Amino acid sequence: MSELAKEVAAEVAKRRTFAIISHPDAGKTTITEKVLLHGQKLQKAGTVKGKKSGQHAKSDWMEMEKERGISVTTSVMQFPYHDELVNLLDTPGHEDFSEDTYRTLTAVDSCLMVIDSAKGVETRTIKLMDVTRLRDTPILTFMNKVDRDTRDPFELLDEVENVLKIMCAPITWPIGSGKNFKGVYHLIRDETIFYKSGQGHRIQEVDIIKGLDNPELDKRIGVWAEELREQIDLVRGASNEFDQEMFMAGELTPVFFGTALGNFGVDHMLDGLVDWAPTPLGRETDKAQTVSADSPDFSGFVFKIQANMDPKHRDRVAFMRIVSGKYEKGMKMKHVRLGKDVRIADALTFLAGDRAHVDEAFPGDIIGLHNHGTIQIGDTFTAGDDFKFAGIPNFAPELFRRIRLKDPLKQKQLLKGLVQLSEEGAVQVFRPLISNDLIVGAVGVLQFDVVVHRLKSEYNVDAIYENIQVATARWVYSNDSKKLDEFRRKAEHNLALDGGDNLTYIAPTMANLSLTQERYPDIEFEHTREH
Ligand code: GDP
Repeated sequence: MSELAKEVAAEVAKRRTFAIISHPDAGKTTITEKVLLHGQKLQKAGTVKGKKSGQHAKSDWMEMEKERGISVTTSVMQFPYHDELVNLLDTPGHEDFSEDTYRTLTAVDSCLMVIDSAKGVETRTIKLMDVTRLRDTPILTFMNKVDRDTRDPFELLDEVENVLKIMCAPITWPIGSGKNFKGVYHLIRDETIFYKSGQGHRIQEVDIIKGLDNPELDKRIGVWAEELREQIDLVRGASNEFDQEMFMAGELTPVFFGTALGNFGVDHMLDGLVDWAPTPLGRETDKAQTVSADSPDFSGFVFKIQANMDPKHRDRVAFMRIVSGKYEKGMKMKHVRLGKDVRIADALTFLAGDRAHVDEAFPGDIIGLHNHGTIQIGDTFTAGDDFKFAGIPNFAPELFRRIRLKDPLKQKQLLKGLVQLSEEGAVQVFRPLISNDLIVGAVGVLQFDVVVHRLKSEYNVDAIYENIQVATARWVYSNDSKKLDEFRRKAEHNLALDGGDNLTYIAPTMANLSLTQERYPDIEFEHTREH
């Protein structure tokens, strides 16, 4: 093995790259802070998006997010934990940003599912689990907020198993909840770990009692000790034991109980993550080969583009997941779609919005490339090979509005803003072939507000929406270029170009779409477009 191959393999072995999925308000932001606290990156975990306190979680750095208390964009955080290096990708929590979330999940190797123990499985969790299933991503589960009155833990596990169709292997088990929350019993370590309230802002010194039969336990928690023993008997009898293979296949999830706010139990989950979650995995390509993370040849793909991350810099950053090899400052790589070599000297790493130049990076890491309009979502970079990584789609929007300027002189600015925002996937823009209209398409309604807000703050244009009769859009293709030309002529009044100049059919009604599809059997109408 070459020195480089050895170095890459050693770095791969250290890394875990994951994202957190949850229903809004389950505690994703809070858990992110505590995870970073354990990673020693934040001296004192920030107050969550406190509108009152004026402090904001480090991972929520866009103004829009602060105002609305939701995470609109993905941020990337890297931190050490024990001897390992963890990359955490933050995903937007609101369902209107599901496309962005989907793409982010293509860049991780495992996920942490956070559930509010008072509420159980909620709608957004179900949708996100569906997304993780597309790649059978291994899932860890954190049952949060046990410092409040929760539902019965057995019932919670049943619900996860029945609704989300994944087996549960409890790793820790809660003793009481709400005011009576005493701590958790760790089924693998055979120890009881005690909770103290009011320690949420630091890493706690915890008391531990070894062994379930230890009489110390009775001294410390009285009648709760006997109840715990009975429960653990039941748990051992009725639940699944942890199984590495089933975890890796996305069929079984280790479950931890705790409180993110009280910073209790988050470390148990992190221990599980570094012990069990996969090190960076390879990725499939459009060729027969799968690229393995251990390969010494550099490769990576872009899963997200973010404009104007830093108002002072006014730039666009492309987020690249490194799949194989080593990034070194100043190295040359091939931008496959353009067939061009580029030299990258100023890639960035992120600590929740703080950026730093990076000298080297390895598989599983996310680096930021400055983008001057040449990089698109889904682009592959290699050491010289011609393959492309597969599977990063665009989804057809379901909501449409016409966008209009208050000041018509700024049309060029508006178009530039919309095209840039569509490049980063914040929204989709369509320009009809036969008019000067601009149609904005979104998957969720909140995207419309975000776009107007960002057009104003980043491009200095005041735009307003008007309703428009559009039911759906389809990307159109044909292998027969003559038929496509004919279609283009005849259906001209319903055709548009999207932000990447791809031909799109804009259907006023679903019935119109069906009729058109029947009339033009040689044309394909696609619901998703692979980048
Ligand atoms: P997100 O929307 O999933 O990011 O959720 P947040 O982290 O913003 O949490 C939503 C609310 O729940 C906030 O008011 C948090 O302070 C609160 N919260 C989060 N974790 C806990 C917890 O463990 N216990 C309690 N009591 N509240 C929590």
